[in-house]
Amino acid sequence: MIGVTILGATGSIGVSTLDVIARNPDLYNVVALTANKNVERLYEQCKQFKPEFAVMVDKIAAKRFSDLLNDSNLKTTLLVGEKSLEEVASLNQVDYVMAAIVGAAGLLPTLAAARSSKRILLANKEALVMSGSIFLDEVKKHNAELLPIDSEHNAIFQCMPENFKSGLLEQGVTKILLTASGGPFRELPIDQLADVTPDQACAHPNWEMGRKISVDSATMMNKGLEVIEACWLFHTSPDMIQVVLHPQSVIHSMVQYSDGSVLAQLGNPDMRTPIAHSMAWPERIESGVESLDLFEIARLDFQQADFVRFPCLRLAYQAMEQGGTAPAILNAANEIAVESFLNNELAFTEIAQVIEATLDVSDITSANSLDDILAADNLARKKSTELVYKR
Ligand code: NAD
Ligand code: MG
Repeated sequence: MIGVTILGATGSIGVSTLDVIARNPDLYNVVALTANKNVERLYEQCKQFKPEFAVMVDKIAAKRFSDLLNDSNLKTTLLVGEKSLEEVASLNQVDYVMAAIVGAAGLLPTLAAARSSKRILLANKEALVMSGSIFLDEVKKHNAELLPIDSEHNAIFQCMPENFKSGLLEQGVTKILLTASGGPFRELPIDQLADVTPDQACAHPNWEMGRKISVDSATMMNKGLEVIEACWLFHTSPDMIQVVLHPQSVIHSMVQYSDGSVLAQLGNPDMRTPIAHSMAWPERIESGVESLDLFEIARLDFQQADFVRFPCLRLAYQAMEQGGTAPAILNAANEIAVESFLNNELAFTEIAQVIEATLDVSDITSANSLDDILAADNLARKKSTELVYKR
């Protein structure tokens, strides 16, 4: 049995991961589940999967959770606070760690999994965006495995030649075609973007996701973060990655080769496919996802991405080209701006403005250590918060 820790078990990816595990009970054993403060859902999950450990980060929620646990006959041990996330990512009896915490909060526990030589199933793209080279160094140094859960990167991984790490051009790869649905506002008149509400931004046409990534999809910052994520995962530079708008979200990304071949991975838009792929790799398991009905889909459309409608995409390309702490600053400012938008403190179109202004007033330095990155992240959060309230 493969021991699994799920960081962010109560979120959209966490729930899909448990669904895949429930379909393959002879293969996987849930060792630990973690949540920020969703008491009810974590408790239900503990009843069903009986993990050895449950982590609740929020102390008040942990008290309520502990009362529920005491009244039950579950043998799950409750751990509380951020540090416990690193603990359950490093346990000896754990083989795979699903990194599905949203945002920068996922960085340290995901790094702990790398340092403990686990197979990391990486959904938390923000961790890689912030600390790409340091993260990959830790993976290599400790002989950990890194498999992408993000549907596009999982698709690219499936279409890549086996030896892609020795250089894409050497292996005949000439371009990565990163597909994007364009989100809910792909066709909205640009002058109406300033007035869209959080609920409209979170109503994604094809995917059901957490609120932060849903807003990122609406601004296309999600695609920008994915360009950066792809650069690190596939050892390449932003000019090798082309974003292709594809409203049906059936092709999850493509790899173009020097002989004219383009390889694509297709499937219904359901995260259980990339999750099952990465959990079973190099084998295949049941995911619960229905296979594609091409006759029902009937057509596939493609368009150029629009940097005027989606300035966040431009900012992400620029940050990756700049390098150093720029991607960490971009990510931190985006987290603050998105949270402010979700709290109705910022207009949708001001998200990109706050991020750009934060990058403008920040010193971009080299990112040689985790301390450099955490300091840049911290400062960018302060600056972007000031920008939100100074408007
Ligand atoms: P979500 O908001 O549904 O869930 C987030 C999870 O993280 C929850 O379990 C929550 O308890 C936990 N969490 C939140 N803040 C925390 C904190 N400060 N400390 C500890 N735990 C915390 O998010 P999601 O949609 O499942 O996305 C998770 C990650 O996966 C994100 O990085 C996202 O970009 C990535 N991702 C998601 C999808 C998707 O379809 N949902 C697709 C690709 C990538
Ligand atoms: Mg994605």
